[in-house]
This record gives sequence, C-alpha cells and structure tokens, in this order.
Amino acid sequence: MKYDHILVRYGELTLKTKNRKMFVNAIRKTMIRALEGLDVKVKANRDRAYIELFEADPYEVMEALSHVTGILSVSPVVKMDRTEEAMKETALNFAADFKEGSSFKIEVKRADKAFHLKTFDIQDMLGGLLLKNTEHIRVDVRKPDYKIMVEVRLDAIYMYHDVISCVGGLPAGTGGRALLMLSGGIDSPVAGFEIMKKGVELEAIHFHSPPYTSMQATDKVKQLIDIMSERTGVDIKLHIIPFTELQTTLYDKIPDNISMTSTRRIMLSLAERLAEKIDAQAVVNGENLGQVASQTLASMHAINAVTSFPVLRPLLTLEKNDIVKKAKEYGTYETSIMPFEDCCTIFKPKAPKTRPALDKVLKFESNVDFDPMIDRALENIEIYETNAKDDSDAFDSLL
Ligand code: ATP
Ligand code: MG
Repeated sequence: MKYDHILVRYGELTLKTKNRKMFVNAIRKTMIRALEGLDVKVKANRDRAYIELFEADPYEVMEALSHVTGILSVSPVVKMDRTEEAMKETALNFAADFKEGSSFKIEVKRADKAFHLKTFDIQDMLGGLLLKNTEHIRVDVRKPDYKIMVEVRLDAIYMYHDVISCVGGLPAGTGGRALLMLSGGIDSPVAGFEIMKKGVELEAIHFHSPPYTSMQATDKVKQLIDIMSERTGVDIKLHIIPFTELQTTLYDKIPDNISMTSTRRIMLSLAERLAEKIDAQAVVNGENLGQVASQTLASMHAINAVTSFPVLRPLLTLEKNDIVKKAKEYGTYETSIMPFEDCCTIFKPKAPKTRPALDKVLKFESNVDFDPMIDRALENIEIYETNAKDDSDAFDSLL
C-alpha cells in the first residue's frame, strides 16, 4: 500500500483550548526535530497534524513520532480527491493487503456535513464493492480484524485502517522546567522520561567525585543524556558538579551511620541552588519508596527538610520490575547497568540509618561549614550539551 501522509492525533492538548496555539507550536517544533533528515513536510493544524511523505518510509516516520510527547496516536493514510472513484480505488488497494479469511468494517466520519454522500451511502458503496471484488475477506461489524476509516473533510478524503498508539502526554516545553538529578543508575533516567512526558523541559545535574569516580562513570551519564535527548527530540543540558571535596569532608566529619543522609541533603541543596539559577520550578529524582536505606519515608523526611523547593519523585510507588521494563522500553537500561561506580556506591556507609533523627543530623552538620564548598562546586560546573538548542528554527522553511 502506498501511503502519502501520516495523520497525527494530539493527546491531552485537545482539552486545553486557551493555550492551543502555544501547544500546537511546541508540538510542531518537536516533530520537526524528531523527523530531521527524513523527506517529509510537517503541517500541524489546530486539531491534528499531517506529515506529508515524499520519499520517507511511513514506518520510519511513525517510529520517530511515537516518542514525541503530546502525540496520542498516528495512522498511515491515503489522501484523495472527494470522488467516489478515488474512494473505491483506495478501498480495493487496502483490501488487497488484508489477510486471507479476515473480516472488515467500513467506518465513516463526515467532518463536512454537506458532502453529497451520507455515511450509510459510503459504507454501502465500499462494503458492497469489497465483497463483490474480493474472495478472501468478509464483513464483521462487531469485531472486525480491519476497520477501514473514511474521513470526509473539507479539503479531501482521508482513508486508513491502522492506528498506532504513541507516548501521549503534553508537548515538550509547555510544562515549565525542572532539574533532574541523574545518577547513572536505572531509576533516574526513567524518572526523567516520566516528567518529560508531561511537557516539562529538563536540565540535569550529576555529581561526580574524581578520582574516586572514573571518567567512564561520567561518560555513562552523558550517554544517558544523549539517549534521552535523541528519543524525545528535545535537547537536555547536563551540569556536572565536582563533588569530591564535599564527599571527602562528609566522609571525614560526619559519623558513618548518618553520612548518607547528610550526603543526600547536600546534593539536594546544591540541586536547589542550581535549579534557582536556571529558573527551574522543581527538582526531580528517581527515588522509590523503601528501595534502599535513603529512601524510607523517615529518610526522605530528614533529607527533604533541607529544602522548601518542590521535589518530584515520579517513580515513588512503582515496582522495581516495572521501572526496569520502562528503562528497557526507553532504551536506557543497557547503559544504566554498565558497571561504573558512582560516588554514592564508593562512599557507601556500612550501616546507614533507615530512620535518621533530624536533630542529630543537624547537630553534626552544624560542625562543618559546607557553604564555601558548595559555592566552589557551583563555580566549577562542567556543562555537557546535546545539539544546540533551537536548531529546529533552521527547519522553519519546511513548514
Ligand atoms: P538510580 O538508579 O537513579 O541511581 P537508585 O535507586 O540507585 O537510583 P540512589 O542511588 O539512592 O537510588 O539515588 C536516589 C536518587 O538520587 C537517584 O535516583 C538520583 O535521582 C539521585 N542521585 C543519586 N546519586 C546521584 C548522583 N551522583 N548525581 C545526581 N543525582 C544522584
Ligand atoms: Mg544509584
């Protein structure tokens, strides 16, 4: 079957009538970015988008679109003149591809109520035609294997039978900005994807402690950023924070059983400082209730007390299996399990408290002046960026 367009259905943005224009512009930008290098033209209307296929393979285009947030589903379609002949020819072409012994149904949507053929006329015409001209298929209106959709619109008729679900959510950049704490483990990249689905623009922060953590550990985090950016079609800036001075001080000055809590508190306050600087409205992490000592509710309480900034934990209640499944689906799993230690693994205390007492934590922390070290860390950030931001403007000529 030769398809000439991909029909793109928007997700939740259909509900947001007030900001519609902003949503459509945002989704158009991300689609163009995701389809970079493919021979297509993007046309994003108020209610849906069409991707005109020139030489591009429809399945390659749909695969690229399936990760774009804000898209609910896509269909490969044939666009035709509003004539009976065109409809008949296309329906016969569709049917030729249907499996031996399968069933079909014709469904009609008339956006143009003035069209000279009514819904039933079209169903009758095409259903009758297929039954008469084929041997291998039959009608089943209740549970058909193939549903041939005929959409009569003002500009043309569109016909398709395949609907492929996509990621849904909201278009990139329409939900504010957040700072993702990215560790290189399995969880935090997944947390990032979940937040990006809601249209939130991400920057990421990673703490490394050379020479205790290796170059490879940092490269791994860069690779994760590349995967996340490539999959979503959105650039992500990574801030790599030198954490060695703070980490060794914590190790020396804070008792072993609460150093984990203090380490997390320092990380979180650093994240908050950076979030404020980059105008982010929240910090995101991959914490999961009860997974390890630092992630009991009591630990989270003691850690979170260091900040009044919103801390989003999209994986909070998920099962580990489900997080792993998502990591595989998003394509980060294989990179996450590469065996390079991050700073927390190396300085891990033997018996961290699962119920750290906040007053004790505060007392020990007050003996050390962490502030100048935090300032130094923030002054020496290394930045890693995926492709330059807003390069999609270069493709505006395609619109
Ligand atoms: P992950 O698989 O994301 O590493 P985890 O289950 O191993 O998570 P922890 O290592 O306890 O959990 O970390 C909890 C969260 O703290 C991580 O999901 C991440 O958001 C953040 N975090 C931990 N280490 C770092 C780091 N080196 N740099 C940035 N964020 C970190
Ligand atoms: Mg970890």
